[in-house]
Formats: sequence, C-alpha cells, structure tokens
Amino acid sequence: MQTIDQIYINGEFVTPHGDEYFDLFNPSTEKVIGRVRLADARDVDDAVAAAKRAFPAFSRTDKRERVEMLRRMHAAVAAKESELFEAIVEEYGAPVSRGRWMAQHASSTLLEAAKILEDYAFSRRAGTADVVMQPLGVAGLITPWNSDAGFICGKLAAALAAGCTAVIKPSEMSAIQTRIVTEALHEAGLPPGVFNIVTGRGEIVGARISSHPDVAKLSFTGSTAVGKTILRTAAETLKRVTLELGGKSPMIVLDDANFDEAVPLALQAGFMNSGQACIAGTRILVPQARLREFEEKIVAALAHVQSGDPRDPRTSIGPMVSQKQWDRVQRYIRIGIDEGARLIAGGEGRPHGVDAGWFVRPSVFSDVTNDMTIAREEIFGPVLSIIGYRDTEDAIAIANDTPYGLQAYVCSSDAARASAVAARIEAGRVLVNTLAHEPAAPFGGFKQSGIGREYGTFGLEAFLEPKALLGAV
Ligand code: NAD
Repeated sequence: MQTIDQIYINGEFVTPHGDEYFDLFNPSTEKVIGRVRLADARDVDDAVAAAKRAFPAFSRTDKRERVEMLRRMHAAVAAKESELFEAIVEEYGAPVSRGRWMAQHASSTLLEAAKILEDYAFSRRAGTADVVMQPLGVAGLITPWNSDAGFICGKLAAALAAGCTAVIKPSEMSAIQTRIVTEALHEAGLPPGVFNIVTGRGEIVGARISSHPDVAKLSFTGSTAVGKTILRTAAETLKRVTLELGGKSPMIVLDDANFDEAVPLALQAGFMNSGQACIAGTRILVPQARLREFEEKIVAALAHVQSGDPRDPRTSIGPMVSQKQWDRVQRYIRIGIDEGARLIAGGEGRPHGVDAGWFVRPSVFSDVTNDMTIAREEIFGPVLSIIGYRDTEDAIAIANDTPYGLQAYVCSSDAARASAVAARIEAGRVLVNTLAHEPAAPFGGFKQSGIGREYGTFGLEAFLEPKALLGAV
C-alpha cells in the first residue's frame, strides 16, 4: 500500500489543499494498492501562478539550453524505466511486453523532442517580413490513463521545447506512474515553476485549468465528449487548443491481401493496449467474397491470443483498467449480440478459469454493418467488428462513414493500390501493411478525433504563435 499525498508546484513536492483521497487498484486482482490525495482548484491556481512567474525567463532561454534540458529529462526518466515498467504493469495491467514499450516510450518522447528542437528554425522570412515563432505562455496539459507516463512526457517535451511553461493534470488512476515520472523530472533540475504536476479530478482540476485566464494553451488527450467540454470552456478566453480524442479506426483488407499477414496485423492493431487504445483498428473491412476465409483464419489465430495475468509473457491482453471499463466492454458485447451481429469468438464474462480481475474475453463479431452501435462507438476494449464490403469504393465509403478520423490501416500486396486507397481515407495517419510508429510524423485526428497535431515539428508548433515583423532592421 502506498499513499501519494504530494503534488509538484514551483520545483517542490507540496501537500495539496484538496483533502479527498482516491483509491488506486491493481486491475488484475481488483485489490486496493494505494491511494492518492487529490488536488483542487486552489492548487491549480498556485501551479498556474508558478508557471506564469517562470515563463518570462524560460521563454527567453536559448534553444540549445532547452535541447540540453530535454536530454537531461530523457536521461532521468530513462534511469527509472524499470520502476516505471513495474508501475505500469501493476496499476494499469499492461502485459509485460507492452509495459516495457510504454516505459521506454515515455523517456524517448523527450529525446525525440530534443532532436526536433535542434533542427527547428524559430525565425523565417515571408515576403518582406521576418516571422518569429514565439512560445504561447503557460500550457495546460491534460492526459488520460491509457498511457499516462507517455502522454505526460510527450506533451511536456513539446511544450518546454517551444519555451512554454506547463501545468500538467494527469489521470488520477495513474498516480503511481505520475509519481515516478515527477521524481525523475525533478531530478533533472529544471528551474522552479517551469513544470508543475497537479493530480486531481477532471471536473475540478481539469476544468479549472481549462478556464484559467492565465493559461494560454491547452493540450488535451482523452475522450471526445470531454474534449468538447474543454473546447467550450476554453472559448471564453480564446485559448489555443489541441485535442487528441477518440477513434474507431478502420483496417481495410484489400481483396489482394495475403490473409496470413493481414490476420495477425488485424489482431495486433485491434487488441493493442488490451484494446484500450485510441488508434485500435476496431473495424476490419474484408471483401464479402473472402469473408468466411478471413473469419476462419482469425478464429484460428485467436486460439493463441491469451487474455490474463499481464506478468505471464504469453499474455497479450491484460485486464481492463477499472470496473467501469469492464462494465462498459460487457455492455457493448451485449449490444452487439442484441443488434444481430454474429459473435465468432469471445463473448460476455471473464475468460475461462479466471475469477478475479477486470479481464474480458477477446471478442470478434462478424456480419457487422457499419450502422450498428459496435461499429460506430468507441468501445475501448478488445472487441472487433468484421464488416464485409462489395468493392474498393464501398470499402473506402465504409471506412470514412464515421465521426472519427484518427488512424486507419490498409493491407494489400500491391503497394501502389494500397497508397491510392490510403490517400482517400479521412484519418490523420494511415498505416499500410505496418504498425510502425514514426515519432517525427504528425499525429492527430480528422473530424471528431481532434484538433491539431502532436509529435514532430507540427507538435512543437502547437505551442508557438507566429509573429510577423515588418520594417525591422
Ligand atoms: P477522459 O476524457 O475521461 O479523461 C481524460 C482526462 O481528462 C483525465 O485526466 C480526466 O480526469 C480529465 N477530465 C475529465 N473531465 C474533465 C473536464 N470536465 N475538464 C477537464 N478535464 C477533464 O478519457 P479517459 O477515459 O481518461 O481516456 C480514454 C479516452 O482517451 C478514449 O476516448 C481514447 O480514445 C482517448 N485517447 C485519445 C488519444 C489520442 O491521442 N487521440 C490517446 C489516448 C486516449
């Protein structure tokens, strides 16, 4: 049992004004493993004041200083990688291979931002004008539970690279990861107030950050519903807003695809992060004429997909993060059955032989139509929908018939054909025959998957404001 009862403001660990405690669970056992004291709106005000005080000096630092600082931050977080990995497996239930990737990804975002910053020119010419890219001010960074250490580091890296100072509101469910990352960043020795971390409830701490008049920029990752609330709140002071929201990513399996390659790719894309991923490929679009063949192969492959103890190296799907999330997934499986989709694997309840923990059965529905609830709404669990299509035009239409547009996948043995299809998909990223991640490439959503981009130069510029200077000597 650990009690986390401090937040981080102005370079110090301090006791929050808020006095409510939130229980932390191990989702594999449903046992309480700790508790975190939650900050409130007064703590946000203190954190924003500290970030505001730090901004004038920090915004004028030379970019080489900030590159050096990001490298120190990277080394400090990387030094805690194994501690972070343990926390991610314990508090989030990530299977070990995923947990290792997540722990490593957190620190690598800092290094990637350092590399982008090294090559970035903060001034350029436009006609007769000089254009200077200036940091926006205090940035409010709000992150979700499904990869919290990575989001904290990634957003902070971009904000500080730009010369902004920051107030971070992580998910209260990820308090152990947050503590480890905060300690590491503290050891990196940044000037007081440059970053502040305030764990608390979204509707209190997150809402105060979103409305605070001294916050110039908001970068939010989370659900589309909360993203819309934040956008409305931020409108009052016209904050610059980046929103990374939900998804319902299609995977188009073209009729020339090799199913022995497409099926494992579909399972990895659909079940990544135990299905709790915004970019999960949850709608698998398969040519109607080859539907049964695809079903047979996916059912055979599923026999080797293990949902259970995340510490067992054979496990690829861990528990859902919370009882609430488990209930949500169960509800969608029931809706799928009730609406007439055909369950070809999995189903309601826990996997066979498992009687504790928020584990679900990896489930695949076929004969899904794109108007069914399970094809339209983000489930955020390992539940896949196979949708048959007539021809390529039909596949593209189905892929785009969604309010979301975060990521899409195309499988084909003809690269030129796959690229032509990829060009017509309304999504911020399209992956052809791969699940690769490119940290220098922009990431973000079309339509209701978000506004703006993270990573690379686009992610850096999300924290900058262009200023044109004319007639200057
Ligand atoms: P969520 O929207 O419930 O919460 C996200 C964060 O916002 C949390 O820190 C929460 O406390 C805070 N919050 C809640 N209400 C708030 C309010 N009124 N004002 C300000 N902040 C508030 O999302 P979640 O359940 O933590 O995460 C899952 C969601 O995140 C999914 O929809 C998923 O698709 C999305 N997500 C998107 C991306 C992406 O990059 N596009 C990545 C990961 C997760």
